[in-house]
Amino acid sequence: MSSRTQCKYLIIGGGIIGCSIAYHLAKAGEKDIVLLEKASLTEGATWHAAGLVGQLRSSRNTTRMLQRSVELYDRLEAETGQAIDWKKVGSLRLACSPDRMLEVKRLTTMARSFGLEMQVIGAQEAYDLFPLIDPKDVLGAAFIPTDGHVDPASLCQSIAAGARQQGVKIVLGKKVLDASITAGRITEVQTDDGVYTAETVVLAAGMWSRELGRKLGVNVPACAVEHQYLVTEPIPDMPKDLPTLRDPDRLVYYKPDAGGRLVIGGYEDDTVPFGDRGIAGEFARQLLPENFDRFEPLAVHAGEVTPVVNQVGVRQLINGPIPYSADGDFVMGKAPELDNLFVATGFLYGIAAGGGAGAIMAEWILEGRPSLDLWPLDIRRFGPLHGTRAFMYPRAVEHYAHHYKMRYPGQESEVARGIRRSPLYETLKARGAVYGSKNGWERPNWFAPEGVEAVDKPGFTGQNWKPYVAEEHRAVREGVALIDQSSFSKFELRGPGALAAIQQLAVSNMDKPLGSVIYTQFCNERGGIEADLTVTRFGENYFYIVTGSGFGVHDAHWIESHLPKDGSAFLTEVTSARAVINLCGPKAREVLSSVVEEDVSNATFPFATAQCITLGAAPVLAIRIGYVGELGWELHIPTEYTAHAYETLLEAGERLGIRDVGYRAIESLRLEKGYVYWSADVTPDYSPYEAGLGFRVHLKSKGDFIGRAALEKQKAEGVAHKLCTFTVDDALPVFGGETILKDGAMVGLVSSAGFGTTLEKTVLYGYLPKALTEESDFEIEAFGERHGAVRVSGPLYDPQNERLKA
Ligand SMILES: Cc1cc2nc3c(=O)[nH]c(=O)nc-3n(C[C@H](O)[C@H](O)[C@H](O)COP(=O)(O)OP(=O)(O)OC[C@H]3O[C@@H](n4cnc5c(N)ncnc54)[C@H](O)[C@@H]3O)c2cc1C
Repeated sequence: MSSRTQCKYLIIGGGIIGCSIAYHLAKAGEKDIVLLEKASLTEGATWHAAGLVGQLRSSRNTTRMLQRSVELYDRLEAETGQAIDWKKVGSLRLACSPDRMLEVKRLTTMARSFGLEMQVIGAQEAYDLFPLIDPKDVLGAAFIPTDGHVDPASLCQSIAAGARQQGVKIVLGKKVLDASITAGRITEVQTDDGVYTAETVVLAAGMWSRELGRKLGVNVPACAVEHQYLVTEPIPDMPKDLPTLRDPDRLVYYKPDAGGRLVIGGYEDDTVPFGDRGIAGEFARQLLPENFDRFEPLAVHAGEVTPVVNQVGVRQLINGPIPYSADGDFVMGKAPELDNLFVATGFLYGIAAGGGAGAIMAEWILEGRPSLDLWPLDIRRFGPLHGTRAFMYPRAVEHYAHHYKMRYPGQESEVARGIRRSPLYETLKARGAVYGSKNGWERPNWFAPEGVEAVDKPGFTGQNWKPYVAEEHRAVREGVALIDQSSFSKFELRGPGALAAIQQLAVSNMDKPLGSVIYTQFCNERGGIEADLTVTRFGENYFYIVTGSGFGVHDAHWIESHLPKDGSAFLTEVTSARAVINLCGPKAREVLSSVVEEDVSNATFPFATAQCITLGAAPVLAIRIGYVGELGWELHIPTEYTAHAYETLLEAGERLGIRDVGYRAIESLRLEKGYVYWSADVTPDYSPYEAGLGFRVHLKSKGDFIGRAALEKQKAEGVAHKLCTFTVDDALPVFGGETILKDGAMVGLVSSAGFGTTLEKTVLYGYLPKALTEESDFEIEAFGERHGAVRVSGPLYDPQNERLKA
């Protein structure tokens, strides 16, 4: 009979990530932790990693997580007594083209705002730090003194030793085969030698995670692709304590190695998926066959910047599977499909991330959420399509190829496109739509007028779409427009307990007359905003919920995990059932009234209400709300009627100059109007009071709801931060993440920004400490340059009482 073991936490996978989670759970005082590893520790992807540890990423909280890795590596050896060969020698990032230099400046601004020291230096200083480079094409560089390199296998063993010292049981040579699930929980984990039961299971099985996830019905969009680095023979007179080096223009990186050697790796265009038809055998401590042909272009590049490598031999070319995911970032958090499963996988730089990721995962497990908002890494950003072979592998290969390549803000993926198309896709394409991709959907970003090439030409400045987006913006402000927003995630909450359930979730009073449209937030216990959405009450116990295209899995998970267990309220996704045309602009009523059978005057169809109307011959849910700050209706149309509804509106609007508008114009319109975007301006880190949404919190008119106590306290005591709006007179290249300064000191970060066409100013949002929210003069640092900015109160563009509510 097979053995049966019970524990509190069961971690699957003995690479750096699994070991670090075990270590941090134990460090937090938890007992009864078991880690199962099918081979020996490190024998998946960890043992053959190059060992570079860099901290700066484009998201502040991911950077903070990586800073926690460095904090751990600084003390680990002393704590466990086991060497890790951690060399905090700094990292150098070369800029060999003008755009790359701009990027270096942008990164430096970002690093400073994240509290990470990063210096912009000249070519000579870069040479002084890394005398093997030929500085002739180098325009400058960035240097981060606290980065470094480590021996990955020793690091993992040392973390594991720390975990064992605190009581974690690490079981080697035991493979997890499957698990049993009852009522949405893993009740039993079967291995090749016995059965485990645990309160919480953590899937940290690297590139095997997707396969295991599938067995449990959990979507894990993580995979692996081939990645190579070469190790040179010893370099004569190799300088000591070289920093690590990245030359992103030539797609290569360097790490000084033992014996005076260099490790040189890179990100080629044509890597190939690994394990896309399943990973054969155990694949323990195994490498893939070397592919010199594929590495050759990288070697040629390396020879250009470090000519010495042309003179020394190659000792070895290492080819290993590197974990990747469907969007090139980690896959972390609680699996939405199961109540007691956490996932931590897809780590393309798990050595750099390992220490911090383990700490964050321990918080996530113990407190239900991490201490930092990690939406860019959260497993709930993915839907079922992301885990498919057809989507995930092409995207992973594309992300790999772009690891160092310049990726401009707004630059779209070129592969795995066209997967989710609105019924208007072909029609709008023929009318010049230039599509972007969101959650698998094709969404029109802008429309190229006749004679203009319908392609994006992205850049930090001078993007080709700007003049056309400005025209679309003006059409919404001055005339009438149609926007295809079919990709909205849509849900129905029904059942006898639906009202009570939504009252628990929302900060606003949801017990409003039928036909009310309620813009509200769902908060966590700390008062942080978990969802920002609109809810329409169509029946006593029937609520229609609309949220962003990329937030469906996240918001549905939040709602479902807080519904009553007695089944008295249930959520159904209806995204595919209805397309959405947003008819907006001051002339919208003129168009709508001419094609519907109902009276849509303000008196019978006021702002923030909804009605079922007949548009041509189509039955339509018309919701009078919008995100652009103008009179308008979101028209939710049964999919098969969409083309008819669109054609009817287009024809009726022709004499008024109706036009198609895309998502890039929505962005500038909503910025002017003061509307926030969840995941940038509002996140679980901030409350409605901090985000300027206190008017949505109805403490007086409703009973208990999630987060009420925290919000009551904030209301009584005041908030620490407030979301503020700034303007800069010039058109700045700003995209979010820039620094806000007061009297030369950094005081905040830009959460989102863009050019307001109507205002003819750059508009920026960002949180300020409360003490500064009455001040008006600030500076914004973008690309290393500072610009005077004015803080302004209230929305910049607000026709609220005239057009919006008229
Ligand atoms: C060539 C190369 C160079 C790299 N260089 C760097 C670098 O310089 N810096 C950096 O930060 N990252 C680097 N990486 C990436 C790094 O290797 C990974 O991010 C990291 O190792 C991922 O760790 P992990 O714990 O998620 O996965 P793994 O190390 O693969 O661990 C997963 C473990 O789960 C075990 N397992 C799987 N299935 C089961 C099962 N059913 N039951 C029990 N156990 C199971 C496996 O045996 C394995 O040990 C590199 C990768 C490659 C390929």
